[in-house]
Amino acid sequence: MSLTLSKKSEQVKPSSTLAITAKAKEMKSQGIDVVGFGAGEPDFNTPQNICDAAIKAIGDGFTKYTPASGTNELKEAVCKKFKEFNGLDYAPNQIVISNGGKHSLTNVFDALLNPGDEVIIPAPYWLSYPEMVKLSDGVPVFITGNKEQNYKVSAAQIEAAVTDKTKALVLNTPSNPTGMVYTREELEAIAEVAVRKDFYVVADEMYEHLIYGDDKHVSIASLNEEIYKRTITCSGLSKSYSMTGWRVGYTGASVEITKRMSAMQSHATSNPNSIAQKAALEALVGPQDAIATMRKEFDARRKYSFERVRNMPHVDCIEPKGAFYVFVDVSKVQDMKYKGEKVESAAKMADILLNEFNVAVIPCADFGFADHIRLSYAISMEQIEKGLNRIEDFLNTLE
Ligand code: PLP
Repeated sequence: MSLTLSKKSEQVKPSSTLAITAKAKEMKSQGIDVVGFGAGEPDFNTPQNICDAAIKAIGDGFTKYTPASGTNELKEAVCKKFKEFNGLDYAPNQIVISNGGKHSLTNVFDALLNPGDEVIIPAPYWLSYPEMVKLSDGVPVFITGNKEQNYKVSAAQIEAAVTDKTKALVLNTPSNPTGMVYTREELEAIAEVAVRKDFYVVADEMYEHLIYGDDKHVSIASLNEEIYKRTITCSGLSKSYSMTGWRVGYTGASVEITKRMSAMQSHATSNPNSIAQKAALEALVGPQDAIATMRKEFDARRKYSFERVRNMPHVDCIEPKGAFYVFVDVSKVQDMKYKGEKVESAAKMADILLNEFNVAVIPCADFGFADHIRLSYAISMEQIEKGLNRIEDFLNTLE
């Protein structure tokens, strides 16, 4: 047979986060006591009122196609949330409800990019962005927010990366994998460049409800009319409402971009699951105390994890302000020896931790930072403590 497959599919790497998480799950199923710092998934059950709304939807027979870009009642609820939480005015014809945040982002890149269009992606980045951009025929252009800059990029760095092919910037705040949050001032400077140089901003605000301490979430589109026009605001229910499996994400954008995304979605997937849409509606319009309860618990885990990690030998980390990750600099570990052999890389460190210490961590080469690992603290305090003890045991053996 001489049939070939697409060049596009050949280029795309499978998600290493999902691969490590799957391996840890497999070890667990074999009865091995693995602590999984890998998955970017809250360990809480979806709040009961949300589950009940889904059960009611089934009972009511709400089990048929809905409009392809989502029900009007859910779009209205999203608009209300955009207005009240983000200070953003979107009308229902500016909203697309999709099958999770990933699907929303895929729609956005498909709507924006022509072959060869460049998308600026600040590293460290969530590993799916470059692959999504490539799938939409775009070219990822990386700039780096190093540790001294709290892993954030400046407006000047973005400006220096702009070429006549620049179509968009991806801006993720709070950030996966760093847990950093952009301030209003930083966003104002970035918005000024985006407007002056005229490119789109894909604002991924998936972790907007998970900010701790004094920091506040600011949506870049809320800063002024010009940046609003150029921004596609992306969010979803997965992380804030512990609804990862339900698959509901959404975008707020110009009417024109929204029309195009809706049309593409109508051919690709049709509507997101009708029952999940009813659940999402309850999540947005029902009582919000579950968010606060989860955030409080995440905050306690964050403080504990950060204090522990920063007092461990050979590693370093900056206090995360949002999301549920601790981003750990392991550059010194790479030069040290474990059982007489150089550790060499964060990837090898992750292998040793999984295979010999039963702890799953994410090495961050695919996040643009090969000498860092990511720990997700979306697991119980007891698991966090056990896992961190094991990591510390490993670090204490290094020579
Ligand atoms: N954006 C960021 C930064 C994420 O970390 C994730 C999930 O890990 C998503 C978007 C996608 O979320 P969803 O599970 O709704 O597809």
